[in-house]
Amino acid sequence: MSHVFHRTPARTLPRIVAAQGLRMTDADGRTYLDAVSGGAAVSSIGHGDPRITDAITAQLGQVAYAHNGFFTSDAAEELADTLIAGAPEGLSRVIYCSGGSEAIESALKLARQTFVERGQPGKGKVIARRQSYHGATMGALSIGGNVPRKAPYAPMLFDAPLIAPCYPYRDQAEGETLEAYAIRAADALEEQILAEGPETVAAFVAEPVVGATLGCVPAAPGYLKRIREICDRYDVLLVFDEVMCGGGRTGFAFACLEDGGSPDILVIAKGLGGGYQPIGAVLASQAIVDTIVDGSGSLKQGFTYMAHPVACAAALAVQKVIAEDGLVEAAAARGAQLRAGLDAAFGQHPHVGNIRGRGLFQGLEFVADRETKAPFDPSLAFNARLKANAFADGLMVYPMPGTIDGINGDHVVLAPAFVATAADIDEIVERLAVAIDRTVQEIN
Ligand code: PLP
Repeated sequence: MSHVFHRTPARTLPRIVAAQGLRMTDADGRTYLDAVSGGAAVSSIGHGDPRITDAITAQLGQVAYAHNGFFTSDAAEELADTLIAGAPEGLSRVIYCSGGSEAIESALKLARQTFVERGQPGKGKVIARRQSYHGATMGALSIGGNVPRKAPYAPMLFDAPLIAPCYPYRDQAEGETLEAYAIRAADALEEQILAEGPETVAAFVAEPVVGATLGCVPAAPGYLKRIREICDRYDVLLVFDEVMCGGGRTGFAFACLEDGGSPDILVIAKGLGGGYQPIGAVLASQAIVDTIVDGSGSLKQGFTYMAHPVACAAALAVQKVIAEDGLVEAAAARGAQLRAGLDAAFGQHPHVGNIRGRGLFQGLEFVADRETKAPFDPSLAFNARLKANAFADGLMVYPMPGTIDGINGDHVVLAPAFVATAADIDEIVERLAVAIDRTVQEIN
């Protein structure tokens, strides 16, 4: 009996003992093809890169920990320099933490502190989007739109107005161009800001490519620019959550760069440390930094493990590997191959309604009926069956149910490491097809 309180306590999980590249091995000697970077789009450069082990060991040999209120470290400074050099224009400083949820909390508090320091204490509301996930902590859950995950905690959460996501497959009207749809979807933000009262709204939070809750749905071209304009018009801070889609996964160093997105605050985690260490980060604009430097002079929040030297050393080494090995370019090239493979294998599949994504971040949405786009009955648990069938066959993918706050079908996310070979990508598509066939047979 395990004394670990696992997410599914009644289940016995295999024990992982080894991992290299895209292959993971359990204690019984079974190997798994990892099509989702450790299970959650984390291990972006693959498992077992000795260069990261060396960097971690070197940092541990120098100093393992020093509180960020006393010291900085070479690793923290060099990592921040690297991140800012590749970031959207205007972002100038980095706040570190230990993961995505902490980073979202930090971003929300930073937005609020900014307006308090600017003498606008009425600005405290955060607008976000339905069918979204921004983390498991209370603030992150409050702004999330994943109803099953947040419902049990409702009395403990704050109210955040949620608008519809940018989701062409379900929401683009008949005869409407994608560009016109992007403007209409973005304009929902303006309506919501006006309904709330612009003097009460501090921030708008969105994922440029929606990961877990929708299955790799990129913002339609023009959407990110339009929401930037709206945020500027009403003095609302624009926060992009790139915890899942960032770090090079879409074929761009930051996902929002593809569409000229320019946030005031940008949140990253997962691929930042590549799974070698837990780390998240918030990139803030110079204007926000100036407000705080010229105001109270101090961030009003922090964590004990903020800017942990070992986590920063690991993330810095991951960034160096990405640069040296050309892995953002690899994510774009392998991503194109993955997309072509998915289109060929599932483009006409009776239960695949939509294939979408960017780079090595691709999703399939499953439907009971392609014509009507009707999702599967949730009680069939298509996603859970698909995960189990794939895993039983040694393939790791990331299926999720359709959410109940809006309509979408079950979907699966594919997010392999950027070091995937052409053969790995072909194998992922072939084995996914087997798992999907088996799942469809089971429920028919
Ligand atoms: N934001 C997004 C878009 C995510 O996908 C996640 C996790 O899946 C989070 C935030 C929370 O990150 P973490 O699980 O590292 O706390």
